[in-house]
Amino acid sequence: ATPTALMVGTGRGAQLGILIKGPEVLETSRRVDTIVLDKTGTVTSGQMTLVDVVAADGVDEAEVLRLAGALEDASEHPIARAIATAAERTGTLPRVEDFTNVEGLGVQGVVTDGESSHAVLVGRPRLLADWSQPLTPELESAMDAAAASGQTAVAVGWDGAARGILIVADAIKPTSAEAIARLRSLGLTPVLLTGDNETVARSVAEAVGVDSENVIAEVLPAEKVAVITRLQGEGKRVAMVGDGVNDAAALAQADLGLSMGTGTDVAIEASDITLVRGDLRAAADAVRLSRRTLGTIK
Ligand code: ADP
Ligand code: MG
Repeated sequence: ATPTALMVGTGRGAQLGILIKGPEVLETSRRVDTIVLDKTGTVTSGQMTLVDVVAADGVDEAEVLRLAGALEDASEHPIARAIATAAERTGTLPRVEDFTNVEGLGVQGVVTDGESSHAVLVGRPRLLADWSQPLTPELESAMDAAAASGQTAVAVGWDGAARGILIVADAIKPTSAEAIARLRSLGLTPVLLTGDNETVARSVAEAVGVDSENVIAEVLPAEKVAVITRLQGEGKRVAMVGDGVNDAAALAQADLGLSMGTGTDVAIEASDITLVRGDLRAAADAVRLSRRTLGTIK
């Protein structure tokens, strides 16, 4: 294509809310055959709300929310926002020290509530298990029930034992199913990639039209890159769409990285294309635009 055509294509993209980093990006966009979609914040709104609190035997539900909420107040994760917001509604949150974000697993820290201090963990059961705080059978079954209905549950533990779970729900964006249908009609295979639980991931995949064999769940942030590399090793030309800090490395590794304009700066910087409005349909527009600009389709 001529430089003029590329400039026109890039300009047209900007009108459609597709910010393209450079003219060479159109060439890679034209060739991708697989599109890996981050779940939270990309296919779903990422705006979660707390829907339920389950406490272990002898534990107060309000305390589960209060201690977890205090800790999550220091985290930017969508799950954390939902928990902290709900906890704040119940009163002033306790003080937190030694806060640590354990990437892809959850958060930990020391929460001082009145006279007593507790070492609190909030996150995947795996995080609690790492600290020898396995879920009780009741908590485990509550967690499974939430996942089966497409909700995300995180575990809460303190002072050496699992104490409860918090259930949050994240709405699928109304445009996601249409976007995925459009990507398919352009010949791309959609893959859903997430750190979230397998059951939740499958339920979202089914709702938006991603085949169950193309669901890759319970992936740690560092493993997201390896998934992209593996697909590339199978000869696929891979586009990846993501929004989070934890997607940045995978976006950079993909042949074509697309970030949500509503996402984090780190993801935007690591990507080749930014979908300004955070609407996944613009990913299909971007592929169409590149094929048009480079003369593959009219
Ligand atoms: P995704 O790929 O879905 O955006 P992440 O890699 O950010 O997910 O997180 C993976 C999982 O780790 C979450 O589904 C959650 O169970 C847990 N997690 C991560 N951060 C937090 C947090 N701040 N509070 C509770 N759980 C968390
Ligand atoms: Mg995300």
